[in-house]
Amino acid sequence: MSLKTAYDYIIIGAGSAGNVLAARLTEDENVSVLLLEAGLPDYRLDFRTQMPAALAMPLQGTTYNWGYKTDPEPHMNNRQMDCGRGKGLGGSSLINGMCYIRGNAMDFDSWAQQPGLEDWTYLDCLPYFKKAEHRDAGENEYHGGSGPIHVATAKPGVNPLFEAMIQAGVDAGYPHTDDLNGYQQEGFGPMDRFVTPNGRRSSTARGYLDMAKHRDRLTILTGALTDTILFDGKRARGVRFSHKGQTHSIDARREVLLCAGAVASPQILQRSGVGPGAWLQEAGVSEILDLSGVGNNLQDHLELYMQYECKEPVSIAPATNWWNKPAIGAEWMFMGTGLGATNHFEGGGFIRSDEKFAWPNIQYHFLPIAVRYDGRNASKSHSFQAHVGSMRSPSRGRIKLKSRDPAEHPSILFNYMSHEQDWEEFRAAIRITREIMNQPALDRYRGDVITPAANLQSDAELDEYVRNHAETAYHPSCTCAMGEGNDAVVDNEGRVHGIEALRVVDASIMPTIITGNLNATTIMLAEKIADKIRGRQPLPKSTAAYYVAGDAPVRGEAKRS
Ligand SMILES: Cc1cc2nc3c(=O)[nH]c(=O)nc-3n(C[C@H](O)[C@H](O)[C@H](O)COP(=O)(O)OP(=O)(O)OC[C@H]3O[C@@H](n4cnc5c(N)ncnc54)[C@H](O)[C@@H]3O)c2cc1C
Repeated sequence: MSLKTAYDYIIIGAGSAGNVLAARLTEDENVSVLLLEAGLPDYRLDFRTQMPAALAMPLQGTTYNWGYKTDPEPHMNNRQMDCGRGKGLGGSSLINGMCYIRGNAMDFDSWAQQPGLEDWTYLDCLPYFKKAEHRDAGENEYHGGSGPIHVATAKPGVNPLFEAMIQAGVDAGYPHTDDLNGYQQEGFGPMDRFVTPNGRRSSTARGYLDMAKHRDRLTILTGALTDTILFDGKRARGVRFSHKGQTHSIDARREVLLCAGAVASPQILQRSGVGPGAWLQEAGVSEILDLSGVGNNLQDHLELYMQYECKEPVSIAPATNWWNKPAIGAEWMFMGTGLGATNHFEGGGFIRSDEKFAWPNIQYHFLPIAVRYDGRNASKSHSFQAHVGSMRSPSRGRIKLKSRDPAEHPSILFNYMSHEQDWEEFRAAIRITREIMNQPALDRYRGDVITPAANLQSDAELDEYVRNHAETAYHPSCTCAMGEGNDAVVDNEGRVHGIEALRVVDASIMPTIITGNLNATTIMLAEKIADKIRGRQPLPKSTAAYYVAGDAPVRGEAKRS
């Protein structure tokens, strides 16, 4: 492929956000875009990334996973914890768990309360969630029916354990909700998935790049590792990257769009001379701009797996036996159906563990087998589990450049569990989950506890369990936060403060982490900013009603606001 010396836009990172921008910007016929991706194409025949049930596989190697590790986490018994990030067309949407969750309306309304972010209310964002979405159940006030991203609703009766776990949550006094992304997030109910009608992963490569890749104004380059953004003074002029052993410097006539995700975007900015002055100096980087927020404000979701033996033979444990896999694989490959065609997260919910939280602070994912997220320690006997974790931890970490070498991973420190609130929430989450799992709706299924052991009861015992066993939910974010204050990195359109012709558009620009999984929101924010880059009017604000807990009790009937 012959590269030009300049393109209108250069996008760094073909992940959840980068692919949205590449597709939307090249809808304009007179615009040229170079999309740079360090990883591989999303090969259609590689079932590891395409088959929803194989979701743990890409995490087990580094073909599609950057495989970062954190520094020793001081409040987690100094464990160096996993920080997997997608590498390849689709980015993290190529390796994620495919749970389609948007966050709570109050997340966006609280963003919009910050100076400069007034146009990020939930009702401003909702039209863009809809624009991106193609839900199999069709369009309504909350959902799109013709967007690039296929969303599959949970299929009733797919596994009795989902209904039993949802019912157990309701029996424990929490609300039921029909749609975790609709009027009311709070409660237990079915969980939608990023899965196509023929049972394939619905990544942004599939959704957006499939739509745009034939346009000759879009150049997609895989295996292209960005080194630095190039500047003329304080204007981003282009990008230097390596590809097949050669170094290229290519100009961006209009803008450089940094979409490398919450770990790599701040790393690339710092390597290019934009970041906290002292850190740049330490790494031997010449300063373009001392911008203190770059890499700070790192946030994530932690979670625990609470596992039980299952007395009836209804879990998916048999599917993990090698002799059952060929038939499952063949059905998925040729029919797009069966156990291969789902991520098996078809139920879950959001609750408040305490009335002091204005909106849910705990998330549940239900799974009809006991297994770690990365596929390790899968139970060979019938079993089920809840993933449970807190949503808006006050702990803050940072991504810090270690050297100018683009191949070297940055230093990552989340500072997990560094606030008392974290401990209170996790203790409550364990105790509430035990109560839910002990409801009559689960009597016929619930066998012995696998983990955490029932004899762990005191605060100290639960805390020690969390320190040793909590894991990331793979949601790093907020390291190039939107806003106007001292710690903000970009404005409400992703434009880097103090720099011209440079935007960051990805999960790193969320000012605070949302209540739920990040992929749908990352896609939404890229859709919204794409309109701004193109100079289009924003989509009209939605008028949909949405649930606000107000003085509703934590347990009890939900009521309309
Ligand atoms: C294992 C896992 C499970 C998850 N589960 C879910 C889930 O079930 N539901 C959900 O909603 N969210 C989930 N998430 C989170 C969600 O997928 C991410 O938050 C989201 O995809 C982030 O999008 P992004 O655009 O910010 O970055 P990414 O999608 O990560 O894209 C960044 C891209 O930039 C590329 N890049 C980085 N550095 C360079 C460089 N130097 N040069 C060139 N290219 C570069 C990367 O290779 C990557 O393709 C999960 C994430 C992971 C990793």
